[in-house]
Amino acid sequence: MTDPAPFDFDLFVIGGGSGGVRASRIAASEGGAKVGLAEESRMGGTCVIRGCVPKKLMVYAGAFPAQIEDARAYGWDVRAGAFDWPRFRSQLEAELTRLETAYRGTLANAGVQVLDTRATVSGAHQVLLADGRHISAKHILIATGGRPFVPNIEGADLAVTSNEMFHLDHLPKRALVVGGGYIACEFASLLHGLGVQVTLAYRGNAILRGFDSEARDHLAAAMAARGIDIRLNAEITALTRGAGGIEAALKSGGSLAADLVLYATGRIPNVAGLGLDALGVEIGPRGQIVVDDYSQTAVPSIFAVGDVTDRINLTPVAIREGHAFADTVFRGVPTKADHRDVASAVFTTPELGSVGLTEEQAAAQGRCDVYAASFRPMKTLFAGRNDRMLMKLIVDSVSQRVLGCHIVGEGAGEMIQLAAIAVKMGATKADFDATVAVHPTVAEELVTMRKPTRSVGNA
Ligand code: NDP
Repeated sequence: MTDPAPFDFDLFVIGGGSGGVRASRIAASEGGAKVGLAEESRMGGTCVIRGCVPKKLMVYAGAFPAQIEDARAYGWDVRAGAFDWPRFRSQLEAELTRLETAYRGTLANAGVQVLDTRATVSGAHQVLLADGRHISAKHILIATGGRPFVPNIEGADLAVTSNEMFHLDHLPKRALVVGGGYIACEFASLLHGLGVQVTLAYRGNAILRGFDSEARDHLAAAMAARGIDIRLNAEITALTRGAGGIEAALKSGGSLAADLVLYATGRIPNVAGLGLDALGVEIGPRGQIVVDDYSQTAVPSIFAVGDVTDRINLTPVAIREGHAFADTVFRGVPTKADHRDVASAVFTTPELGSVGLTEEQAAAQGRCDVYAASFRPMKTLFAGRNDRMLMKLIVDSVSQRVLGCHIVGEGAGEMIQLAAIAVKMGATKADFDATVAVHPTVAEELVTMRKPTRSVGNA
């Protein structure tokens, strides 16, 4: 007679988002593990259900009016009619349901047992389900992601977060977006595209802190030129409902009025009530689960990946972390997730794509040459628009290695993905120069900038 398995599962995952799904699929299908996964909400997590995917579809929806305007300049007799938000929203909902079903199918095919319930950690090898059941697992992976953070100001309950944006009954006439990060800038742009009058209030003096300064300024100018009212150094102290909608009081005096206020003031790790403190899992100052390079917590049987660890909060990073965890623990291939040179795009209008060091970061490290070109692309110039594209390479003056690339303009998200391969491979400026241009494109500028615009930083 063989001994019964000491644990119910080899791996139990809490959270069915990008990181948790990838880890459980690889552990089960390639590592031969018996895997269970608990998800309290819809399968797919933030990215699929209330983040990247519905946001990008809204970005696409909001891009049509300008495209139709441009089409007229190109000779087409077309006109944008009214936008049918309820119709779009139900189409969006159907798409999310399709994706959720696909996720479930993938996990079922891999042999992962999905439990649609909340789970908390009750021991180093124990999980407690909402119905009171205890489950044992040799390894536990926490992939519970994050949730929107709204500062504790008077009237905060009058604001919505990105979570609610996909379920609005109707689009507002006037929206106030608070924050200056990815989510604030993206929603400001897409709402403007959908015909909403948008004010963006940011507490700092330039949106998108952490990105390349020239790119931030270029993008802010482009968003303002399209009609978004960007208020910098604008701190909101209270929200009140009045006859004219919601009034947002500014610390500097005065107020802003809107029909909808969206707070996009960051996201915080989802650890509340998981029971981790009692077990000795270390929680960092931002509420994040502290892990080592292999995503292992201070309790050896408990691991964590994705936004709950607050390393780089991007879906593809969570996927890499989840995959690396499964490779390490279940495939015998110790793998660290690589967090260097991770490209990202802000899906504003125009887009901002970025990889590697900003000019400021590179200058702080040593001497570097900056190649920057700002120009009017053929496509929109023909349509009578004054849009300017920014292409920028940061090059180490000594090694000539391209340390960073920043693009603002249509298609920046697609372009930066490809530029990131070269940057990640350690390409030099000479490698870029040796690449023959594809003409006529905007991307050709990346391989045709011959002379540095300036050199910065100390040798
Ligand atoms: P971010 O951290 O990017 O930005 C938060 C913004 O809110 C900052 O401008 C910050 O200002 C401001 N803020 C923070 N606290 C307050 C406060 N108390 N009062 C007023 N303003 C405040 O967070 P997001 O919510 O935009 O996005 C969360 C994460 O999701 C991002 O970090 C990103 O990793 C990911 N994401 C990625 C996307 C993509 O890849 N396209 C799209 C959307 C999200 P300050 O700069 O002064 O700190």
